[in-house]
Amino acid sequence: MKILISADMEGATGVTWPADVLPGTPQWERCRSLFTSDVNAAVQGFFDGGADEVLINEAHWTMRNLLLEQLDDRAEMLTGRHKALSMVEGVQHGDVDGIAFIGYHAGAGMEGVLAHTYLANSITGVWVNDVRASEGLLNAHVVAEYGVPVVLVTGDDVACEDALGYAPEALKVAVKDHVSRYAAVCRTPGRTAADIRAAAKEAAALAVRREPADGGPFTVAVEFDAEHLAMAATVVPGVTRTGERKVAYTSGTMYDGIRTFKAVTTIASAAVEEQYG
Ligand SMILES: [Zn+2]
Repeated sequence: MKILISADMEGATGVTWPADVLPGTPQWERCRSLFTSDVNAAVQGFFDGGADEVLINEAHWTMRNLLLEQLDDRAEMLTGRHKALSMVEGVQHGDVDGIAFIGYHAGAGMEGVLAHTYLANSITGVWVNDVRASEGLLNAHVVAEYGVPVVLVTGDDVACEDALGYAPEALKVAVKDHVSRYAAVCRTPGRTAADIRAAAKEAAALAVRREPADGGPFTVAVEFDAEHLAMAATVVPGVTRTGERKVAYTSGTMYDGIRTFKAVTTIASAAVEEQYG
């Protein structure tokens, strides 16, 4: 049994503040250890539950956050950016039986600690076929096309609630309770590691590959916080303006859908000015 872990940082134990997840800050240096503890607990739990292989795919920012030297020796880690499937890279080779979303968070425009979808501020909402989408929902559609079930989700309580929508059967572990975008009641890493390890052990039983899903077509709508970003995003082929601050496109598969989304976010973020946005 092979498990893939997609590891994002905003939903990690103790993380509530931009500097906590911003590479290069002293606070990020401290939070890397908390983040690594969550991921390592999942690794250990999956091995407890019978996994033969666990691959961790870094999914936050520059995708260079986890401390390799603190991980269980049985795990392997894919670190660094520019990957065909971004946050769920590694799922496409036909050998993954289940995926865990560790450190996930609520989507843009939603309530939740550090809630966003890809871009921290510029995107205020994403919808897939009219359903409000988080990164978890987008990635769940991608992995379903490879027949890989989401078996475990960790993050704040809102991220866990969000996961009920896209992975109802997955185990969920809330490592903190949302108070505001930048505040949460946090549990200690000792406690959250024990909770995550126990949940991962149980979740291993859900890691059974299925028939690849054929859920398309997917119409993805993206709303920005400024009009010029919507205009800029229309340079991506197939992306059309649907409102003052909104664009949309339709993809036959979520493989194409997520790659177009990546192009849209890259173009939009390049159009943001330091002043005025
Ligand atoms: Zn994220």
